[in-house]
Amino acid sequence: MKRIASILLGVAVLLGSLQMPMQAQAKENVVIMIDPGHGGSNLGANPPGYLEKEMTLVTAMAMKTELEKYEGVTVYMTRTGDAELSLEQRAQLAKSVNADFLYSLHYNMSANHFFYGSEVWAQSTGVNYTKGYSQGQLLLNEFTNAGLFSRGVKVKLGKSGNEYYGILRNASALGVPAVIVEHCHLDHANDAEHYNSIEKLQAFGRSDATAVAKYFGLSSKTLGVDYSDYPKANVTPVATPKVQDLTPPEVAAIRVTGNDENNKTVSLAINAADSNTGIMYYAYSTDGGASWSSLQIWPSATDTLSITVPAKYGVNRAVSVAVFNSYDGMTISNTLTY
Ligand SMILES: [Zn+2]
Repeated sequence: MKRIASILLGVAVLLGSLQMPMQAQAKENVVIMIDPGHGGSNLGANPPGYLEKEMTLVTAMAMKTELEKYEGVTVYMTRTGDAELSLEQRAQLAKSVNADFLYSLHYNMSANHFFYGSEVWAQSTGVNYTKGYSQGQLLLNEFTNAGLFSRGVKVKLGKSGNEYYGILRNASALGVPAVIVEHCHLDHANDAEHYNSIEKLQAFGRSDATAVAKYFGLSSKTLGVDYSDYPKANVTPVATPKVQDLTPPEVAAIRVTGNDENNKTVSLAINAADSNTGIMYYAYSTDGGASWSSLQIWPSATDTLSITVPAKYGVNRAVSVAVFNSYDGMTISNTLTY
């Protein structure tokens, strides 16, 4: 037994000194832990006809299958069935295999059902912030290519100053880079066509895998792709934790520029600004705030917008606009009659 061990050690040393490419390849093997969010009695979002814990598992399995088509990657899952795991256990599983990245997969809902689109939550400090931010952008690129709206890569601290999200907090404590992937919203018509079949949930998994392959520069002979030189965002590590945008947009003001009684429209010039994270969506009301339009996408990198919207010529001829920043902070403009 001892003799065999020493022979093996000798061979290993020999291989180590003579076979550099082989050694380099082994070192470069990427270890991925996929975490299908929720499970067991923890159902996740459950709008009629859907269960998030089942959706995340379908997506995770497709992500694993797709990733395994690449060379130099080992893929694990925190659960492969309807198991109940704590957030700490999920992070520990990633640590136990020395994962290079932990991906916690989710589908989103908002309390007021206003919001739609995809978002990625990253760890807020140090090199893991850098990694999460670049990986998050690659994930969001895949989703926007599929027609979804990007709500961005974001961070969130809790009151204690620690990560707000448990999976990111536990992964941080163990030194594991991690992101939460919120693929889309299950409670908004805008995203409905993206998750309404098993095939579409699997397509999300393939998008996830592609983004991972691009991040780690993987190649696949099976797929005929080589991402070894794929460009990544260069994000500067932050020494002190990034803090989320805690304030609503500073500017939200409107001017009525036209009122067409024949075509029943009202035209507005909107001025809006959020110096921290920018304006993401807006909605308008033409009945004094009694009802609001669905959220419209605010064009990036501008603080003015002209719109013409259907007018209501009822008792309440009053128009106003609500604007939202990347963290869903809202400011309502002045109200004008038309
Ligand atoms: Zn979830």
